[in-house]
Amino acid sequence: MKVAFFSTKSYDISSFEKHNTGNHEIIFYESTLNTKTAKLTQGCDAVCAFVNDHLHERTIKLLSEYDVKLIAMRCAGFNNVDLKAAATENIKVVRVPAYSPMAVAEHASALILTLNRKTHKAYNRVREGNFSLERLTGFDLYKKTVGVVGTGKIGQYFIKIMKGYGCNVIAYDLYPNDAVKALGVSYVSMDELLEQSDIISLHCPLTEDTHHLIGKEAFSKMKKGAMLINTSRGALIDTVEAVEALKNKTLEYFGIDVYEQEEKLFFRDLSENIIMDDVISRLISFPNVLITSHQGFLTHEALDKIAEVTLGNLTAFETEEHLENEVAI
Ligand code: NAD
Repeated sequence: MKVAFFSTKSYDISSFEKHNTGNHEIIFYESTLNTKTAKLTQGCDAVCAFVNDHLHERTIKLLSEYDVKLIAMRCAGFNNVDLKAAATENIKVVRVPAYSPMAVAEHASALILTLNRKTHKAYNRVREGNFSLERLTGFDLYKKTVGVVGTGKIGQYFIKIMKGYGCNVIAYDLYPNDAVKALGVSYVSMDELLEQSDIISLHCPLTEDTHHLIGKEAFSKMKKGAMLINTSRGALIDTVEAVEALKNKTLEYFGIDVYEQEEKLFFRDLSENIIMDDVISRLISFPNVLITSHQGFLTHEALDKIAEVTLGNLTAFETEEHLENEVAI
């Protein structure tokens, strides 16, 4: 198969080159896939895309005109793909359903520990010869209530980590799971989760129902001084309302690996540019906000698995095998 890879970085290229044993001809593009770059797929059988590529109806129509037959997402989420348009154009969509749920769960826990114990600030202070402990006081995680929204693959690893710290874990999911209950977790309503949690961590997908799941109303129900962590998808949170919640101190800690408007910012070095997004600039200005740029997945193990499964998906399509990782509409 000849495959155009979009939004590629050095770490994508090295892991795909390591795992592609010559079966597929890969062209790596740094640019995002959108209506302007779709023409780069000319002569290709498939595209391989990532979280911020634009696979909207118009792009998909163009892909079809260039005779692309497969969209291989090298990620778990597919909220940026218009599945109906793909089906209309007879283009199949495959993904990597689980590459390392541990990687994302561990990153969520890293955000919690860093925000709480302020290790990022301590690191900078000590390097400047400032050994003061003023304003570095944290809290014990032991016996704190952690609310987990979405108890799928990542949510379950995250629960095990938080249980390891001795936290009381409660959860909300549309489909409560017995394996989660067996870990000693009680399922509660979303309102109860908001009211009772000291820390809330989001691990559900972005869908029409979960868009701005955490908005003005949800913030008004939260415990004063709560910590909110999002390693799932940015638009689960209404970020403008998050800024208000930080200002009125409902939120005392905010840790995000994903951001609603991340596609114009994340995965790029903009250190010499002027940031035009006032909301993220405001967020960055808070001392109790920690932002990482969608790196939850970024471990060696996850990159290996992403490459192996994506290349397997391409081969399965080429050899007309059952597409076990096809995204159904
Ligand atoms: P999963 O499908 O295994 O689990 C998702 C869970 O959310 C399921 O239990 C599902 O029932 C539940 N859910 C669905 N709709 C819900 C709703 N309206 N309210 C509450 N729960 C709901 O998915 P996963 O592998 O655990 O991944 C979770 C999310 O993490 C993905 O959708 C993706 O957006 C995100 N993710 C982020 C990164 C990163 O690098 N930061 C990497 C991988 C995945």
